[in-house]
Amino acid sequence: MKTTRNQLLNEDSADCVSIHSDNDCFSFSHDTEGIFTFISPEITLILGYSQNEFLNHYSTYLTDAPENSKVSEYTNQSLSGNKQTAYPIQIYRKDRSTCWLEINETPIFDDIGNVIAVEGVAHDISENIKYKSVLKHVLEKTTYQNKLQAALDAADAGTFSYDVINDHSWWDNKSYDIFSVNPETYQNDYASWRKLVVSEDLAITEKKFKQALSSSLTRFEIDYRIHTNNNNIRWINVKAQITRNKKGNALWIDGLHLNITKTKELEIKLLESESRFRSLVEKSPDWIWEIDTEGYYTYTSPYIEDLLGYKPEEVIGQTFFSLMPGEERARLLSVFQNYIKKQQVFSAIEHTNLHKNGNLVILETNGSPIYNIDGQFIGYRGIHRDITERAETKKILIEKEIAEQANKSKSDFLANMSHELRTPMHAILSFSNFGIKKFNSAPPEKLLSYFNKINQSGERLLALLNDLLDLSKLEAGKLEFNFRLYELSIVLKQCIDEQEALLNEKNLLIKIINPEHDTQAEFDTVKVSQVITNFLSNAIKFSEQGTTLSIAIKANELFSDAGISNGLCLSITDQGIGIPDNELDTIFDKFIQSSKTKTGAGGTGLGLAICKEFIDAHHGRIWAEHNPQGGSIFSFVIPLQQPKKT
Ligand code: ADP
Repeated sequence: MKTTRNQLLNEDSADCVSIHSDNDCFSFSHDTEGIFTFISPEITLILGYSQNEFLNHYSTYLTDAPENSKVSEYTNQSLSGNKQTAYPIQIYRKDRSTCWLEINETPIFDDIGNVIAVEGVAHDISENIKYKSVLKHVLEKTTYQNKLQAALDAADAGTFSYDVINDHSWWDNKSYDIFSVNPETYQNDYASWRKLVVSEDLAITEKKFKQALSSSLTRFEIDYRIHTNNNNIRWINVKAQITRNKKGNALWIDGLHLNITKTKELEIKLLESESRFRSLVEKSPDWIWEIDTEGYYTYTSPYIEDLLGYKPEEVIGQTFFSLMPGEERARLLSVFQNYIKKQQVFSAIEHTNLHKNGNLVILETNGSPIYNIDGQFIGYRGIHRDITERAETKKILIEKEIAEQANKSKSDFLANMSHELRTPMHAILSFSNFGIKKFNSAPPEKLLSYFNKINQSGERLLALLNDLLDLSKLEAGKLEFNFRLYELSIVLKQCIDEQEALLNEKNLLIKIINPEHDTQAEFDTVKVSQVITNFLSNAIKFSEQGTTLSIAIKANELFSDAGISNGLCLSITDQGIGIPDNELDTIFDKFIQSSKTKTGAGGTGLGLAICKEFIDAHHGRIWAEHNPQGGSIFSFVIPLQQPKKT
């Protein structure tokens, strides 16, 4: 059922009179345009305006309160026929003070249901609003106290207050819990508290407590142990605030009791393990250190004094490299910079350091990067170990090995040489003896064959002596080189011709791969033909009957410190017994022979060493390879032109 205008006015005015007998409400009505058509006289008591003043200027009396922005919306709702719930507006009184009104309004309909007006009652609720804000403050305070209690509970903290003058304390339940005493029987005075404290802690705790009271401190904190009723030990932390009178005498102590047993136990364990590690580090026969990201020592163990003669404080703040001799410093800087850049672990790095007394000390270093709690790289931690003795022993061992090797090479050489000298010498002596004995009886052809044998052995001896001579001259740097432009292919042909007899003896086939260009280069023809002859005679010596030797000359590039230059390469490929891969380089060393031919093949192991010296002197390169078809390939490359002498 819809409310009619008369009903509303009667009900509201009755309400207004009965409930708000002190005249804190007025009634109103406005038309469908929103223009006030009626205002009750109580308006003057509440706001100070006359009825007419209010009807004419209503809109200018509204304040800027945010609640007022919704007034037109509420009016529109009422004019659309919807009954509103009460809403607040703020309005200026005639004396410019502000007043909160609560508006209850309702639409008025005609008989056919159209809205013809809106009528309502405005209550002065300013006092109410004031009360509400006080209530809000009280509520907030209560919430704060609840939160404080929740925080105390979460921290497992008990509260206490102690009346210093009357020696009496008030504890909350949590405090009784923490001290594990019965609230009914506990005396709450100083003497009772003393009985709870572990005897070893009593003196120091009382001293601290009395010092805090007699000083001008307002706050203090003490940790001590108590016995619980089941005879366990519990750590208590007290945080307290002292209230003093004007003279500074303590009146009250308020504060918190905290059970810190777990934290203390952890702290004690941590201290124990720290002291264990510290004593390990300090007694270690290694120098333990820490450096920062720049390589400056931030910690060094005392062992440094035994090792390098410096006290730790003399070294802290120095760089990792400052105790190394100059060259070593430069070498190590680049080594360590690489590790530090990548923050990598380094191990077994050897370096030389200077003892304070000037002696050299060899150290071996291991280190790992260290990071702070945020994962940021802060330097390295590690150890330096003195390996001077070990390094010296190693050096002596290496020197001994080298000396033994040299000794062995010398013995091998002497054995080889005596064999090489004795064989032709024997032949010379035997055949000359035959000649002397059979001078009258032997036919001239027989004597000629003796002379030929003597001559061949003489030649062999001469070649050997020439090799030795070449080598000693080469070593003394006294061998002359006569460089001139010449065709390499011509020298090759002469060398092959010289070996014709031997080639035929073994029925070897020579295959020459001719170059498509001339083979002119600047070289010493005698030395290069000696190299080719050495290659050829070895190839013949180590080849089976009836196999093939392929010989090629081709253009090749040479790489040297001076850059790339054009050169000529000569290679001789045989199908002989070959050379093991790991010996391809060493056969160019003096007196070295391949393990495959060492026994019985004869030779001194000097030929290839001399060849290498010759080719080096030509600024060329010499090497041996494995022939994939079996056998070996020996090659050298020499530049087309010798570099100009500077
Ligand atoms: P020598 O032949 O007088 O011993 P070389 O210096 O000329 O001295 O040769 C050194 C060693 O290299 C030889 O003893 C042999 O073991 C190995 N060698 C050289 N050429 C060949 C080859 N074509 N095939 C197999 N082994 C070779």
